[in-house]
Amino acid sequence: MLELKHIKKYYTVGATTTKAQDDVSVAFREQEFVAILGPSGSGKTTMLNIIGGLDRYDSGDLLIKGKSTKDFKDADWDAYRNNSVGFIFQSYNLISHLSIMDNVEMGMTLSGVSAAEKKRRAEDALIRVGLKEHMHKSPQQLSGGQMQRVAIARAIANDPEILLADEPTGALDSETSEEIMKLIRDLAKERLVIMVTHNPDLAKKYADRVIEFADGQIQRDSDPYAEAPQADQFKLNHTKMSYWTALKLSYNNIRTKKGRTFLTVFASSIGIISIAVVLALSNGFQKQIDKTQSEAMASMPVTISQTGTDTSSMMTGTKTKTFSKAQHITAEKSDAEKAQHTNKLSASYLDYIDQMPKKDAKNIAVTYGTGMNLIRKVGASYKTVSFSTADPDSSTMNYSAMMSASTGVGGSVYPIDRNGGQSFLKTYYKVIAGAYPKTTTDVVLVVNKDNSLDINALKNLGFTTKEGQQLKFNDLVGTKVQLVANDDYYAKLPTGTFMPKQQLDALATAPKTKTLTITGILRVKSKNSDGLLASGVAYSAALTKSVLAANRDSAIVSAQKASAANVITGQAMNVTTKNSVLTSLGGVSTPTSIQIYPTSFKLKDKVLAYLDRYNQGKAKADQVIYTDLAGTVSDMTGGLMDAITYVLVAFAAISLVTSMIMIAIITYTSVLERTKEIGVLKALGARKKDITRVFDAETFILGFGAGLFGIIVAWALTFPINSVLAGVTGLSGVAQLNPVHAIVLVIISTILTILGGHVPARMAAKKDAAIALRAE
Ligand code: ADP
Ligand code: MG
Repeated sequence: MLELKHIKKYYTVGATTTKAQDDVSVAFREQEFVAILGPSGSGKTTMLNIIGGLDRYDSGDLLIKGKSTKDFKDADWDAYRNNSVGFIFQSYNLISHLSIMDNVEMGMTLSGVSAAEKKRRAEDALIRVGLKEHMHKSPQQLSGGQMQRVAIARAIANDPEILLADEPTGALDSETSEEIMKLIRDLAKERLVIMVTHNPDLAKKYADRVIEFADGQIQRDSDPYAEAPQADQFKLNHTKMSYWTALKLSYNNIRTKKGRTFLTVFASSIGIISIAVVLALSNGFQKQIDKTQSEAMASMPVTISQTGTDTSSMMTGTKTKTFSKAQHITAEKSDAEKAQHTNKLSASYLDYIDQMPKKDAKNIAVTYGTGMNLIRKVGASYKTVSFSTADPDSSTMNYSAMMSASTGVGGSVYPIDRNGGQSFLKTYYKVIAGAYPKTTTDVVLVVNKDNSLDINALKNLGFTTKEGQQLKFNDLVGTKVQLVANDDYYAKLPTGTFMPKQQLDALATAPKTKTLTITGILRVKSKNSDGLLASGVAYSAALTKSVLAANRDSAIVSAQKASAANVITGQAMNVTTKNSVLTSLGGVSTPTSIQIYPTSFKLKDKVLAYLDRYNQGKAKADQVIYTDLAGTVSDMTGGLMDAITYVLVAFAAISLVTSMIMIAIITYTSVLERTKEIGVLKALGARKKDITRVFDAETFILGFGAGLFGIIVAWALTFPINSVLAGVTGLSGVAQLNPVHAIVLVIISTILTILGGHVPARMAAKKDAAIALRAE
């Protein structure tokens, strides 16, 4: 069955060499109860460890069922210990944080026996050793004799052919010792039992064969045996611990040290907490900055007007520093006037603007000076109304205000979403009554934050109101206004001048008349974007375009084009005034201004570059100059935020590394503490890999726990942080933990902790099983 051939094992410590096995040759029968007697330090344990594959011999050979073990690999030894050998130790070596059942099952767990089968065999073994009643206790609740019975049950649960016992009764009283001896003798009827003892009486009373040992050599053998050469008939079933078993072992171990585990998890989570809080804050600040920037951009669009100011010429227009000696005067324009530049907002320029990439600037507002002939049924009859906010009752109304009132210029044009839809209105305005506009003929009323509306807008719309008067939403929403074409609206008098018709009722039903509806009342969403659109009526540029199309070739426009005098008043006009009259009559299709709303601060540069490209290679007079109101308000704040975040994350990362080192130390301590357990697991056939796995599992639990705990605490911290920030800055909900960040942080914590604990885990795996079991 087992044969030792010239086994030598020397230990050299310093200058002295101990011959623990000094050329030992002995053979054992398949079934016998062998007792090994000898003084302390004679090499008994060493021999048992070599036979059991816990320790390696220096030279000689160990034959198992005729198979030489000279070429055994680690995996073969592991499998041999697991399949063929059961160990019983003087100090029982139960794993205290596991239940009795789990202890007994461990060897089978390592060899992958099914749960049901394990349970059955473990129960059988426990019944066999007489522990039927105590099966469900924990190891600490047992007496020494009972613990040794559990250890015996563990040793025989896998039904090994060889049972090795190292002073099994050494720690027991004589009565209990006798019971254990009887049990072992019983077990020896089915297998080979080799028992080391220092008690000659027990040896002689129970054993079949007594071998006396001294100085690493066999002195006497009561029943020597010579094994006949036999063919190799030894098969091994290799062991493998599942990740689940590793997790369970570690979880149970951690559970027994709740306080320390909590402190470890807490300390390790500090790194995660700080990173999570920094990320949550920067996340929120970035959102806030983006929002502020987009609001700033909405209130300060890139504007192109009919007249621009060429700042570059203002800069270069340097005055001569010296006094003139000339005896004449030169007529010159002022610097400001020189800088005046007339933009030709031609059809081709509008096309160019149209071609601008939509992602850079989604919203563009094109304003025309075109007026609208509006009438509204007030009470029983129709009245002339307008979208203007000029005071209709003012006696000091200037000429252009009068013109605008009489020709129906007024109201604001809101930007059109170039992809369709109302993204501008929907982003910055909320509906407080009615709905957002849907069609070209839908117009809206824009009110101030306090729901106030320009009284002149109301008066011009035909409402009779006094200052401070309150109007119901329903009085305004749904109001219909008729838009009349020039040819219907103006009658040509015999004198050649034009005059608005007096019979307004008939105009309401004229074929070209369109009905405009006030669909909703809008108010800015954020106080920062207040005043984007003036209080009053707002409509889409498409409405103006349709008016232009209807009136471009009307009789009054043709007449005004041909006449130097105003065709309504008959007064003489200069070129500028004539042009503005023509414009308000709808005879000029160039816009008065174009407003471009870049999608973001970064993209504004692209928009400006696009506009600059138009001017390239063009004569000065053909260039178009824009005004960038947002100007120098750059995205520096965003960059600064990034920099601060990096610095803070770097600091937080240092604490993460610190906690990783801490976990490594904790794991190392745990390795030291669990040395015995490592020895036991190895005696039961655990591979090096399995031991690593147990400690990796422990650090996995700690790392994952720390990560999870960390983000929960960080998340909880966002509430007080937000309330403090709200108090200090007035911003609400700044700190927001991004779920993606949270998940990534848990993963990072887990990985870093496993990395930190892996080195001690490897150290644990490399521990010599024989030395580990000798540890006290
Ligand atoms: P026993 O079990 O008979 O008391 P051991 O087999 O434990 O004896 O030890 C035999 C001898 O080998 C002792 O002198 C012991 O000090 C020595 N020894 C055992 N293990 C080691 C070791 N790892 N390093 C050095 N000496 C050892
Ligand atoms: Mg010993």
